Amino acid sequence: MQIGVLAIQGDVREHQRHLMALGCEVPLVRRVADLEGVQGLIMPGGESTAIGLLMQEEGLLDDLRARIARGFPVYGTCAGLILLARDVEGPPPPRVGVMDITANRNAYGRQVASFEAALDIPAVGDAPFTAVFIRAPRIERMGPGVAPLAFLHGQAVMAEEGPLLVSAFHPELTADDRVHRYFVEKVRNAHYRPES
Ligand code: GLN
Repeated sequence: MQIGVLAIQGDVREHQRHLMALGCEVPLVRRVADLEGVQGLIMPGGESTAIGLLMQEEGLLDDLRARIARGFPVYGTCAGLILLARDVEGPPPPRVGVMDITANRNAYGRQVASFEAALDIPAVGDAPFTAVFIRAPRIERMGPGVAPLAFLHGQAVMAEEGPLLVSAFHPELTADDRVHRYFVEKVRNAHYRPES
């Protein structure tokens, strides 16, 4: 299975390593041509405005919107969550913008830049998942088609809608591969119809 990692900013290598350990081929994606033959994509964290502007220049925003409409699975972590969100509180970056959520940028404030939390994520198993949050966004609103997968202090921090998965935290920074495994399964079960 080929799952790409958007390689503009962030923990590109860490995501790549997790996916490779799960048996995937993992091309790095910087332009539309790199998506040829790819069955799913991870969008790492970073700075969403910088990433969104570069994606726009490369035509990746329009291309991904069209692919997602045909069932292409995308997992956005942190800045990637902001880039998938239809609505954004805080300065809105150029983005894919197709998931029916409102993301609040830097919801946890700049002082509390980074923290860890043990999350219950029933979809990936019973044991708590050590989640690393770095200037994390928060999901303020979820549309009726969105399923929350994990909460922190009563607010959703991981969710999915159709082929889309988002988390406010960084699963690539821990050795626990269960969230990546969950996405690999999602790609395996997806009904993506590449253009013929
Ligand atoms: N808060 C950042 C943004 O708005 C995202 C932080 C991250 O990806 N670690 O882009």
